[in-house]
Amino acid sequence: MLGRTYESQRCSVARTLELVGERWTLLIIRDAFLGVRRFGDFADRLGVARNVLQDRLERLVEAGILERVPYQERPLRHEYRLTEMGRDLWPSIVALLQFGDKHLVANEGVPMLLLHRDCGGEMDERRVCRTCGKPIELRDVEPVPGPGGAKMPAAA
Ligand SMILES: [Zn+2]
Repeated sequence: MLGRTYESQRCSVARTLELVGERWTLLIIRDAFLGVRRFGDFADRLGVARNVLQDRLERLVEAGILERVPYQERPLRHEYRLTEMGRDLWPSIVALLQFGDKHLVANEGVPMLLLHRDCGGEMDERRVCRTCGKPIELRDVEPVPGPGGAKMPAAA
């Protein structure tokens, strides 16, 4: 049985879970991919206690997945952006989303669709556009509410 941490596991899945396996942490990363950057916006969307959110954001910064970037001088305010390391979680987040769409969504329909920004085509399980056949990178994605109606971040 796994203990509270996975440090003794010589395994890269376990090492990744050490960073992102906590529920709120992964949802913060999901929202970061949807363009959420500011503390208050994460708090509003997730409904998580602010001290928990603060703790998880700090851990993600320490781990190098998010970076704190000033967006205002007076008063000084920061926002959280995915680093290159953080952006490497994109295929994993998409895989979790697609797993949920396939196995855990009943009749209400998928909550969110990831569309190819250029042509509006849907993304397949290999992150390729079903319409034009081009690979869809993070910057090429337009997330939109699906029939199951996801709550989307307000446009920045
Ligand atoms: Zn396309």
